[in-house]
Amino acid sequence: MTHYAFPPAETPSLAIAGSEDRFPVRRVYCVGRNYAAHAREMGNDPDREPPFFFSKPADAVCDAGCIIPYPPLTEDLHHEMELVVAIGSGGANIPEEEALLHVWGYGAGIDLTRRDLQAEAKKMGRPWDLAKGFDFSAPCSPLVPVSESGHPESGRITLSVNGETRQDGDLDEQIWPVADIIAILSRAVELKPGDLIMTGTPAGVGALVPGDRVEGLIEGVAEISITLGSRA
Ligand code: MN
Repeated sequence: MTHYAFPPAETPSLAIAGSEDRFPVRRVYCVGRNYAAHAREMGNDPDREPPFFFSKPADAVCDAGCIIPYPPLTEDLHHEMELVVAIGSGGANIPEEEALLHVWGYGAGIDLTRRDLQAEAKKMGRPWDLAKGFDFSAPCSPLVPVSESGHPESGRITLSVNGETRQDGDLDEQIWPVADIIAILSRAVELKPGDLIMTGTPAGVGALVPGDRVEGLIEGVAEISITLGSRA
């Protein structure tokens, strides 16, 4: 048995719908610009780009319903409502036609983003890490097993702030569907059980302020609500 110098950190995990069990999170991958209208609102041409990936630390996940401290170093915290894919069996170079067999289930997540830090990083040619991967930056609904959710290919994906709709898209607007994302990502890294993939956001991203109540829905999959707390 390994003896650690001090007790290792707890395994990050998410709730599972209808179960006391929790889903142990290994890595959190995110897809950039996967909806054409969002790519355009960020000043990019959606037709020209292959999918690209970034990641968040596994312990950036937190359960829906939580109060998220407004993070430091930003005056422009943005919401990005996203379908989350939970990987149940791993692999490298997964063929597209087998990709969905590796999915354990799905959830509704919010890719919280310090947009001002991201804009500065883009301008300076620096990494996005601290714009995307900070504490509490990946709130997610309870995960729903595929046996209940199926593999959603269409359905509304919406987000409201204090009751006002901000994002209202459809999963069928995804440039790269889930099977393609898994296949392409697995050429870059070996996927393993417990990996999460946040699959990109539809148009309508915008700023949050302390006290905001954020509610998201992915039709046929899951709902998420979070409240922004005061500044950390
Ligand atoms: Mn995103």
